[in-house]
Amino acid sequence: MRVSRLMLVTLRDVPAEAEITSHQLLLRGGFIRRVGSGIYAYLPMMWKVLQRITTIIREEMNRAGALETLLPQLHPSELWQRSGRWQGYTAGEGIMFHLEDRQGRELGLGPTHEEVITSLAGEMLRSYRQLPVNLYQVQTKFRDEIRPRFGLMRGREFIMKDAYSFHADETDLQATYSAMDRAYRRIFDRCGLEAVPVDADSGAIGGAASQEFMVTAEAGEDLILISDDGAYAANQEKAVSLPDAVAPLTAAPLNCLETPGQSTIEELCSAQGWQPGQLVKVLLLLAVLEDGQQQPMLVSLRGDQELNDVKLVNAVGRRTEQSVLDCRPINADDLQRQGIDNIPFGFIGPDLADEVLASASSWTRSFLRLADTTATELEQFHCGANAEDQHRSHCSWGDLGGAPEGEDLRKARAGERCVHNPDARLQEKRGIEVGHIFQLGRKYSQALDCCFTNENGRDEPFWMGCYGIGVSRLAQAAVEQHHDDAGIRWPAAIAPYEAIVVIANIQDEAQTRLGETVYATLQQAGIDVLLDDRKERAGVKFKDADLIGIPWRLVVGRDAAAGSVELVQRSNREMRKLPHGEAIDELLQALRP
Ligand code: ATP
Ligand code: MG
Repeated sequence: MRVSRLMLVTLRDVPAEAEITSHQLLLRGGFIRRVGSGIYAYLPMMWKVLQRITTIIREEMNRAGALETLLPQLHPSELWQRSGRWQGYTAGEGIMFHLEDRQGRELGLGPTHEEVITSLAGEMLRSYRQLPVNLYQVQTKFRDEIRPRFGLMRGREFIMKDAYSFHADETDLQATYSAMDRAYRRIFDRCGLEAVPVDADSGAIGGAASQEFMVTAEAGEDLILISDDGAYAANQEKAVSLPDAVAPLTAAPLNCLETPGQSTIEELCSAQGWQPGQLVKVLLLLAVLEDGQQQPMLVSLRGDQELNDVKLVNAVGRRTEQSVLDCRPINADDLQRQGIDNIPFGFIGPDLADEVLASASSWTRSFLRLADTTATELEQFHCGANAEDQHRSHCSWGDLGGAPEGEDLRKARAGERCVHNPDARLQEKRGIEVGHIFQLGRKYSQALDCCFTNENGRDEPFWMGCYGIGVSRLAQAAVEQHHDDAGIRWPAAIAPYEAIVVIANIQDEAQTRLGETVYATLQQAGIDVLLDDRKERAGVKFKDADLIGIPWRLVVGRDAAAGSVELVQRSNREMRKLPHGEAIDELLQALRP
């Protein structure tokens, strides 16, 4: 391809709309253009990158025995009503774009395809003899993200590979899950990406295994914790650790004391000489459940710990057996709107009585009480006294009418000891989630009542797995991981072109002639090669070649008359002057070993 015909529009300046390097470079290199918030055009070079990634994904999915398919993007609302997800995905902060057709029927634009595929499987896979089946597609997904940002990283329209597998039993599901794990490692490896598999949250359905693949990068939106012995890695949403030990209080009788204005842990500790880990703090939150219930909650944690929101939402889901649409702190305005005026913020204890909710206008009038194990395991502790400016010291759970059941609700943090090996410690890294594999179990097949007949002739819901890769996000993550000050350094396997021949001065006949010869030779050898034949200064062409990140560059310049060229490798900027025949051989050797 000739660069003069490539519609190449590169930008020298950093576009104001782009915060992170990969987004800036893709815009500057003419790979993408923003059309609207979270909506991007993939320009021809970007499309080539995406197709090369897709080819690798296809090869590995096919190798693992999966079947390619293509499902509709318009989803009738009934399907999502049946799974119980329509409300959660369309109301409030729901991310499904939805619309009405001319007959007034509601439709959603597919953000994911569990509903569509499960109902199809239920119609077509009638017997255990047809199982297992693993279906995948590569397709544009739509999600009305609350904060679309960072270009292709979090778009509202993006390309995903999604796969769904159906099994007669859990063991078979686990086998396919492992096969997908292996396929994913090969895919990321072949794409030239360093991706770390981490334990991931699986929602309120306990037991189901789930793993994310994270490209480690400063710009990543996810926080991951990795043990320094290399044996454990998890998304912070899911990560566990051993909490730091705290000095136990010397036993003393319960005492109520005046703590005027000391409503935070820091204020209390500095005024009373306490340590944060000797306190139980109580957070007041509100959960909105799928049936519309607004449930106030009291969550107790040891004073030096932080609440993990994902663990909390899962715990609430388990307790209420409902999906949790929203979970947030309660503030003074909320209380005022409910007509509640007797909750002493900053002085709440775990035993705050349900009576304070008696006047609530729309909330449930009793608290859901949850506690982290770090709090329930304390023999004695200090806590709020449920009255303005008062705390209790040397309290025990017995004094409060018994301890609630303790569960893991805290954030694991860097520096803490690991559960699998107390000698190892957690380290923190940021990651970009490029893939996610998930043992769904029977959640969707049960909800949609999709069954097969098992060996004993009885109907049973399928065991299911699902496996996603963010194709467009992966492409940008590759740039985030592979770039330098001059531009992108595409890994060879996914680069838009394999090589670029740059004619330094197209007015020089010897240069043009040799450039064309080299270009034709490489094309004949099957190399996907660019020829920079533009009437531009050599410096401009070199800058562009660096920016767009083609792995190999062959410069035909002053030594063209003598038949010599420069061969430059983009990744390390190593440059060698060689007779053009040798340069071509070297290049073929590198690209087609
Ligand atoms: P995230 O936590 O980043 O919002 P998710 O867990 O909702 O992602 P999945 O439903 O697991 O995403 O989708 C599979 C893959 O699709 C993700 O691993 C990610 O790589 C990609 N992906 C998800 N949302 C987006 C988006 N808005 N833009 C680009 N890629 C996305
Ligand atoms: Mg995910």
